[in-house]
Amino acid sequence: MDLNTQIEQLRPDMIAALKTLVNIKSVQDAPAPGAPYGKGAADCLAAALELCKKLGFRTHNMDGHCGWAEYGEGKEMVMVLGHLDVVPEGDGWTVCKPYEATEQDGKLYGRGTIDDKGPIIASVYALKALKDEGFEPKRRVRIVFGCNEETGSADMQYYLEHGGEIPATGFTPDGEYPLINGEKGVCDVTFEKKLHQSGDWRLLSLTGGTAPNIVPAHASADIACPADAKLPEGTDVIRVTRTAAGARIEAEGVSAHGSRPELGKNAIGRLCMFLKELPLSGDAAAAVGYIADMIGMDTVGKHFGIDLRDDRSGTLSFNLGMARCDEGKDGASAVRFTINYRWPVTYTYEDCGPKLNDAFEKAGWSIAGNNHGVALYQAPECELVTKLLAVYREFTGDNSPAKCIGGGTYAKSIPNILAFGPVFPGVPAPEHEPNEYIELDRLVLNAKIYAAAIRALAE
Ligand SMILES: [Zn+2]
Repeated sequence: MDLNTQIEQLRPDMIAALKTLVNIKSVQDAPAPGAPYGKGAADCLAAALELCKKLGFRTHNMDGHCGWAEYGEGKEMVMVLGHLDVVPEGDGWTVCKPYEATEQDGKLYGRGTIDDKGPIIASVYALKALKDEGFEPKRRVRIVFGCNEETGSADMQYYLEHGGEIPATGFTPDGEYPLINGEKGVCDVTFEKKLHQSGDWRLLSLTGGTAPNIVPAHASADIACPADAKLPEGTDVIRVTRTAAGARIEAEGVSAHGSRPELGKNAIGRLCMFLKELPLSGDAAAAVGYIADMIGMDTVGKHFGIDLRDDRSGTLSFNLGMARCDEGKDGASAVRFTINYRWPVTYTYEDCGPKLNDAFEKAGWSIAGNNHGVALYQAPECELVTKLLAVYREFTGDNSPAKCIGGGTYAKSIPNILAFGPVFPGVPAPEHEPNEYIELDRLVLNAKIYAAAIRALAE
């Protein structure tokens, strides 16, 4: 029997196994012994390893942080990295309850079906079919079940810090097809300025945005000013309202993902440009003036000289994501702005981070937080890229090239792997949404693709 027929015959088992995992609520929760990300994730890991044991694989549980199933011999190892943790279910489930996997119209509904329990089960049965076929890999194949992808990938940090073997090559079925061969580097940085204010015009509060990686659609500020002060008129995107202390200014923008800030309109930038024209003084004037002049509606960091670009992944993206203003320790208030920026895949943090930080520090700001990762990139001619693309093309006839993205996938958490599937181009991907589902035909197609991919990488 050929491998694909074999996989088709495993379809009912695959669906049953997926239901078992979906029905375990594996949202991050309070840690417990052996369950660093909560009991749900640990139970789900135990269930996945139990299944793999029954299928005839060697298994290992790494202290509840992650676990794996392994097959074959060989000095080197091919990793397939997926995750069992899910994001909270949220509201709006109408087809089924989020943790009661339900088949309907050729789809399996439930939290985690597409992200990432379905794809990892497809990988498990891909390996099962290869084993049944008698495939003898030259490299061991290890399917790793992570338990903390959605909330920081501390699972893979633990894996690496506790001697987890680094794969020679591999993929994570937690992205999209054809293949993601580049992921921009990402940094969230927060700059803070103390506001020692006197005078009639003062900034009382400033709030905008909900997360660093989202273009803020709303921002507002309260200011103090004399009761008889003449206030400027609002515009179609700025509203000015009188308050007891002075005035409230609200700015509207257009939300977009922080990796594509050019698709949005930044409400915080707009608000600062408006505030800059008011007769604020001292620190407040300097703070909003600096943000207005250096950022405003810019989305590439050009005034900081960090508007890097490359042919592979385009321009650095720059999103002024959040603004907050509150009381500092010494009684003076402080204003904080958080920026989320992403540099092109052929550059490093050193090419942009220090320049940006220096500029702010020279202007009297301090850094209240700075979290940066690395970019990931494998050139189109690398073996991993050519092999995975060839497999994808064989099954789909789609000859699109590999792509670079502004976001980060699980591939960044382990060296030498790339994100490959499970989402096909142009097909909706309802991950993180209510009524999350995977189309069962595509679950099986993924298993076929992953089987061919594992074979290509391991033989
Ligand atoms: Zn995922």
